[in-house]
Amino acid sequence: MRKIAAYIGGFFLLCCIGLAAFLFSAHWQIRSIEPALPTWAQLDAALQKSGGPVALAYLNTASQMSPLGELGHPGILIEWQDGRRFLIDTGMPPDAAREFGKPLELLGAGPTTTFGSIAAQMGAAVDTVKGVAFTHLHNDHTEGLPGICAAQSAPATIYQAPLQQAELNHTTTMGLVFLEEASCAREALPDNVIKQIPGFPGLVAVSLGGHTPGSTLYAVRIGEQTWVFSGDITNSLNALQQDLPKPWMYSTFVVPEHTERTTHLRRWLRELGEQQGVTVLPAHDVPAMSAAGLLQWVGITQSL
Ligand SMILES: [Zn+2]
Repeated sequence: MRKIAAYIGGFFLLCCIGLAAFLFSAHWQIRSIEPALPTWAQLDAALQKSGGPVALAYLNTASQMSPLGELGHPGILIEWQDGRRFLIDTGMPPDAAREFGKPLELLGAGPTTTFGSIAAQMGAAVDTVKGVAFTHLHNDHTEGLPGICAAQSAPATIYQAPLQQAELNHTTTMGLVFLEEASCAREALPDNVIKQIPGFPGLVAVSLGGHTPGSTLYAVRIGEQTWVFSGDITNSLNALQQDLPKPWMYSTFVVPEHTERTTHLRRWLRELGEQQGVTVLPAHDVPAMSAAGLLQWVGITQSL
């Protein structure tokens, strides 16, 4: 009996050591990723492009009420004059969104409400999506991709910052599966601080790190208004404005984050948001998107 207890104890200890080593390597990796950030003047200059986008909307695939507010799973759709569109993040199909929400329900969140995948919501208009990019490779941002590429007569191109392609961890390899499964081809963006997305004038990407090694920001300007999509550096605009970190348990055990970097990024993003005509929007904050005046895609017959 004592022997069995010793075996179980030994096994448990080995599991703990294995888990600690696993998490340590993920923390070690993300702490080494601190790409240079542009100043507002540099970003402003990069967005002064002729032929830039003309419209913007969000498509929400699912939402869940949590004790911290509404957690939405939208994609951002950007449109150019010639009708071509670019999508940032792809949300999740309904079954995947419900699965994703279950662990959060144990922590006090409500049930997940689903609105249909982006492919289903767009219908035939999904063919106008010529480019796709991700704020990071977590499955709540990537799982809608295979359905989009499969529904297109000519699959869109996926654009990734070099850091997003090269630096993965156990949380992003789970989301990468959907890029690999999808029939859309992948292309690397140039390794500049501000990365122009080829063929989509006025849309730029900036590598951030902090939340995941490949976390990336996207910025566009429509008329006088600049929109900055900051991904999951914070889960809400309120956390950005109030400078609130994510819970320690989350940043240590659930998603290994570089917390000094996310602190620095919150301040940098807040300063961007204080510039005239600049709106910063975290990926999950659908109420903030709608409060900022971003239009919601309401159906397959709507033209932006
Ligand atoms: Zn997310």
